[in-house]
Amino acid sequence: MEDCIFCKIVKGEIPSFKVYEDEKVFAFEDINPISPGHTLIIPKRHAKDLWEISSDDLSAVHSASKKIIKAIQDVLQPSGVACVQLNGPGANQVVLHYHLHLVPRIVGDPELPVATWEINEGDMEAIKETAVRIAAAIK
Ligand code: 5GP
Ligand code: ZN
Repeated sequence: MEDCIFCKIVKGEIPSFKVYEDEKVFAFEDINPISPGHTLIIPKRHAKDLWEISSDDLSAVHSASKKIIKAIQDVLQPSGVACVQLNGPGANQVVLHYHLHLVPRIVGDPELPVATWEINEGDMEAIKETAVRIAAAIK
């Protein structure tokens, strides 16, 4: 897609610190890292979000994440890696080309808000009703 920053990175029109590439996937370091080794994995074919990405490209991105998380473990030895993936403005997705964040974490790091939500017991009837509606809509 013409105006997409990540498509430009795939084409080499914008420089990036590449860590991995195959036929379907490109992975590179985030330029505003939450922690050292913060890596983005994207499909080479433009897709905006989880609604748009093909199952093939989705599998390729997530298979690549397994290779990359192993390399991150070997090189940086974090005590955890947060896999974060945002879809749509309500979830604060900023770059509209599907991407999976791998964020190395060390115990004691400042909290990642998305990984530390408050636990509040849900309304079981409401949860059940929503589950029934989603289940019925799965195609
Ligand atoms: P989002 O909020 O859409 O999940 O995150 C987009 C991410 O892309 C951010 O973490 C941001 O730092 C990163 N980013 C935005 N522009 C560029 C760029 O030109 N190069 C790289 N390497 N990362 C970028
Ligand atoms: Zn794109």
